[in-house]
Amino acid sequence: MRPAPFDYVRPASAAEAVWALAGAHTAGREARVLAGGQSLVPLLNRRAVRPDLIVDLGRVPALSGIRAGRRGIRIGALTPHATVERSTDTELHRRLPVLPEAAALIGQLPVRVRGTVGGSLAHADPAAEWCLLAVLLSAELTLLGPDGRRVVGADAFLRGRHRTALRPAEILVEVGFPAAEPAAALVEYAAQPGRIPEVAAAAALVLDADGRIGSARLALAGPLERPMRIPAAEALLIGVRPGRESFAAAAAKAARITGASGDLGTLAAVLLRRALAESAARAAVLAPVRRERMELVPV
Ligand SMILES: Cc1cc2nc3c(=O)[nH]c(=O)nc-3n(C[C@H](O)[C@H](O)[C@H](O)COP(=O)(O)OP(=O)(O)OC[C@H]3O[C@@H](n4cnc5c(N)ncnc54)[C@H](O)[C@@H]3O)c2cc1C
Repeated sequence: MRPAPFDYVRPASAAEAVWALAGAHTAGREARVLAGGQSLVPLLNRRAVRPDLIVDLGRVPALSGIRAGRRGIRIGALTPHATVERSTDTELHRRLPVLPEAAALIGQLPVRVRGTVGGSLAHADPAAEWCLLAVLLSAELTLLGPDGRRVVGADAFLRGRHRTALRPAEILVEVGFPAAEPAAALVEYAAQPGRIPEVAAAAALVLDADGRIGSARLALAGPLERPMRIPAAEALLIGVRPGRESFAAAAAKAARITGASGDLGTLAAVLLRRALAESAARAAVLAPVRRERMELVPV
């Protein structure tokens, strides 16, 4: 099938894109932003969406790029998955190695070369890796609209299956991951290789100097309307030693709370346990480094 006819503009700046979207909205016309086209083009071809106007962000290079610094990792909305996957930025790998690792799990190479981080977040597929990590790591999304910029937390941005806090004339400009969680890990199961996963789980643990869990983040995606952190399961982990039993108890509780049942529930519990184990292994490697640094502080 071919798309229904639409008008097309390719603005040179983010402000021009917003202006085009606002003009369409005021005139009562439906407009859609085009980024990598990996989700939107199939929808257009099936005529599942029939916008009057397409606003192509492809000529707005300012929206692309990775900035890693003291304020965390900031990724421009138009940055392709493959750019994150292949990034050689040492700060990115030191602070959040899970970001390039997760990017490498998305689809197959052509999808990762064209598809963008912002497109994935705006598309808000309940199982998308970027959405899961945004929730796990309390990411902040910067949106630009006719009234200027606003920053929205990932939890408030992702409202449900393909539903976000984006207003009709707004675009997503960048996503910021403020939390340095070097031990974060993501594991997933996809029934078909190169497809979006059925279930994905992510965890980020920090160990205290005595090897107990000092802080825990745990999140699940796939069987839910949107990715969710599970604070009651996280609370079970605080102050305990990482291990099979504590992880199994937290994972079982998390799967129960999210309502994942049957095979999906079992799969969710297994993946949550594995994400915790991977994160704990990383945290254990990092813990002595932190202790060494503390000892080096002059008194
Ligand atoms: C075969 C295949 C396998 C895939 N596997 C996975 C997978 O394993 N994991 C995964 O997460 N995804 C997967 N995807 C989806 C892929 O990651 C897409 O890249 C992503 O969902 C959308 O990104 P895009 O840049 O292509 O956005 P587009 O398709 O261009 O846009 C998607 C939606 O977001 C909106 N949008 C895009 N950018 C912005 C912006 N900056 N501001 C506001 N709105 C915006 C568009 O209007 C549209 O509604 C797969 C896709 C295919 C075709």
